[in-house]
Amino acid sequence: MGTIIYGAAGLLDAAEGVQSDVALYIEGSRIVATGPLAALRGRYPEAALEGGNDVFLLPAFVNSHDHGRAFGSASLGIPDDLLEIWLPLLSGCMAAAPYLAGAWEGAQLLKSGVTVAAHSHIPPAWTQMYDSSVAMLRGYRAAGVRPAFHPPMVDQNPLVYADEAAFLAGLPDAATRALAAPFVQPVPLTTAEYLDLCAALFAEFHDATDHTAHIQVSPAGGQWCSDALILACVDFARQRQTRVQMHLLETRYQAHYARRQWGHSFIRHLDEIGALGDWLTLAHMVWVDEADLELLAARGVGIAHNPSSNLRLRSGVAPLAALLAAGVRVGIGLDGHALDDDQDYLRELRLAYVLANRPGAASPAVTVADIVRLGTAGGADITLGAGAPLGRLAPGCLADVVLLDWAALRGRWSPAGHPAPEDALAFLLHRATRRHVRHVLVQGAWVVRDGRCLTVDEDALADAIRADLARQLQDSGRQAGLAAARVLAPHLRRFYAGWEAAPAP
Ligand SMILES: [Zn+2]
Repeated sequence: MGTIIYGAAGLLDAAEGVQSDVALYIEGSRIVATGPLAALRGRYPEAALEGGNDVFLLPAFVNSHDHGRAFGSASLGIPDDLLEIWLPLLSGCMAAAPYLAGAWEGAQLLKSGVTVAAHSHIPPAWTQMYDSSVAMLRGYRAAGVRPAFHPPMVDQNPLVYADEAAFLAGLPDAATRALAAPFVQPVPLTTAEYLDLCAALFAEFHDATDHTAHIQVSPAGGQWCSDALILACVDFARQRQTRVQMHLLETRYQAHYARRQWGHSFIRHLDEIGALGDWLTLAHMVWVDEADLELLAARGVGIAHNPSSNLRLRSGVAPLAALLAAGVRVGIGLDGHALDDDQDYLRELRLAYVLANRPGAASPAVTVADIVRLGTAGGADITLGAGAPLGRLAPGCLADVVLLDWAALRGRWSPAGHPAPEDALAFLLHRATRRHVRHVLVQGAWVVRDGRCLTVDEDALADAIRADLARQLQDSGRQAGLAAARVLAPHLRRFYAGWEAAPAP
């Protein structure tokens, strides 16, 4: 016997608009039928009945780029700055142990209405890549989130996107150079070792049927990876029909790097080496050239748009309207860096909407429905691949459903019939936050009920995380790394300011 879930209104597919009197019939992990409540009750009279006239149904959200940090870096004592300065500081940031981080992060995402998360892994140490990946995957799965998990790899430019010896030589004295030395060490992992561990994770966790987890690969960022590494990752992904996710063109210095290196854009370079395809997702893409948009669309490349993170790390505002107008595939990700450090996916959609609509009557408009599509079906497309049965509520799709508190959203002041169905999505996008996520279903099972995560014990997790962080707070090695990064910060700022003064060709 299955279950009928109904709502006063709902959005089955962002391409179709809001309907009133909407219901789903679910058996096991999948949606079998959709329609008005009375019609489904007639067809499935034995089904259990859930939902109500005070909820709004919609497909669960897909967080297309994140890191599973469990807590924002600012919450852990690392203030925001330019990415190039913030990253060395991040190496001294406390971090919850991987299982705890995955379980805690998973619970926070579920309570935000997110059931799929692209996870760019940050191992506690490069030597712990495999073990920490397994622990993090198990943490996410304990919560019930579907991770699209990609361990990272880098093989060049660990500190600056330039000749590191020249940067070190420009530091004022030997003591400062000694502080910088640990930041320019090559990673103790070869590309072959990296791909071996990805293959082992793939064999154990990749699930292309029910999409409980995907294992992907990640040359972590264009400037940090040789062409050989990027192409080895592409080969790995294509052989296994999985995906590649990279950070790209997050800051303008990364765009400058490409022009210094090849005399043209990063996107053109990746195309020249055969590294653009529909198996690739590029995160951030703030500094993409308008001239490259058609190429991105033609190659089927996916873009993970991260509006909060791009503001907080002073990267800028990605040209979302132009990307969509060019027909580029786009999803939206939190990057662990939402404006309020709270992984609120609904607020992130709102921010994406207001930033996408630029001043001027002639500016292209991005609609509310466009934004909700990017957060649902668009995200599933670039995170799990074309045709993934998520991001929509249709027969055959996996039953990942969010029930928003429609009564609370409408407020006591809303008269009956307000908002009209054609206005309901804008009403929702401008008002909803994670506190309106009342119930969430993953794979046909309840994971959030009345705002409470059912799958993990958040109180016990918080206690374990607090004890873990208390140990790290006293760790002298971590404190020394953070102090060194703080000493280097003004030198890094001056170094990149020099790039502003003499822009690349
Ligand atoms: Zn990221």
